[in-house]
Amino acid sequence: VMIAWAPGATLGPYELIAPIGAGGMGEVWKARDPRVDRIVAIKRLKAEHTERFKREARAIAALNHPHICQLYDVGLDYLVMEYVEGKALAGPVPVADALRCAIQIAEALAAAHRKGIVHRDLKPSNILIDEDGRAHVTDFGLAKRFAEDAGLTRSGAILGTPSYMSPEQLAGKKID
Ligand code: ADP
Ligand code: MG
Repeated sequence: VMIAWAPGATLGPYELIAPIGAGGMGEVWKARDPRVDRIVAIKRLKAEHTERFKREARAIAALNHPHICQLYDVGLDYLVMEYVEGKALAGPVPVADALRCAIQIAEALAAAHRKGIVHRDLKPSNILIDEDGRAHVTDFGLAKRFAEDAGLTRSGAILGTPSYMSPEQLAGKKID
């Protein structure tokens, strides 16, 4: 049973402020972490996290990049993220802005890929453009770690792009 979230309610240490959006995975709320006096975005998930999800979330939380919306925390059925003041990417976008954002998004994804993480849900509503026009890739909550998938859960199988890395190199790419 889902308990209704309401402005002013607390969720673990977080104080809910107002709903800011709804998507396939659940609602997104603006909230505050009173411990550090920081505004955050909290995404409520429709089901509780699995252990595997939590492991992946920890890996994603380790991503630190100016164009990746930081994951701060995971609760039983929610994700706590960096709050980005701005709007989701929506066209039409002037060519110069589109090029700048495309480069920023590509840099963000490249940084994630270097850590063995694939986003898997890239779309305009997951790119937030802040007041300075900078792009922030969000929703890494659905992402997967390809190094682990290739190396552990499907022994011998190669997912996606063929890998030329040895098992030792793949192991070196793991995040934990
Ligand atoms: P979608 O399935 O459309 O990607 P999401 O649940 O990811 O939906 O997000 C819904 C909306 O909530 C987004 O389009 C955006 O406006 C807002 N939102 C999501 N994450 C954040 C965030 N970290 N900071 C500010 N707003 C956000
Ligand atoms: Mg989204």
